[in-house]
Amino acid sequence: MTIPISDHSLSLKSIEEINTLSGESVKVCMQCATCTGMCPMAEEMDFSPRKVMHFVQFGLMEKLMDINTYWKCASCHACSVQCPRGIDIAKVMEALRQKVLRKSKNYIEPSQMSKEAIAEMPQIALVAGFRKFTS
Ligand code: SF4
Ligand code: SF4
Repeated sequence: MTIPISDHSLSLKSIEEINTLSGESVKVCMQCATCTGMCPMAEEMDFSPRKVMHFVQFGLMEKLMDINTYWKCASCHACSVQCPRGIDIAKVMEALRQKVLRKSKNYIEPSQMSKEAIAEMPQIALVAGFRKFTS
């Protein structure tokens, strides 16, 4: 697969933005793929956590905007606790979700959920869903 290399200044800006949002430094990733090996959701993802880290290291935001990886991420932190470089990958996934959500797009509308669905769903799932999928 050919990876398009974006404009250098745009790449640096995007990398800094993800670093700021996540509180992590993506450049220290050494592409060992431990995160992918630990991830319970990897098979459901368009790109593995390791590949996403690679895209983030190059600031390939256009590539990252159309993939499901960070939406499929369950924020379980299994990757984060095993990363040999100490990167909290779950925070990077959250930063990517924030990048999309800050465009004011809601992927679920709380006001349109039925009372029955709200009553049946575990509260922790509701809160996690709202945090992940609303702007
Ligand atoms: S486990 Fe850490 S160092 Fe290894 S690929 Fe994943 S983020 Fe990079
Ligand atoms: S936090 Fe997300 S990316 Fe990391 S192991 Fe869990 S589901 Fe996979």
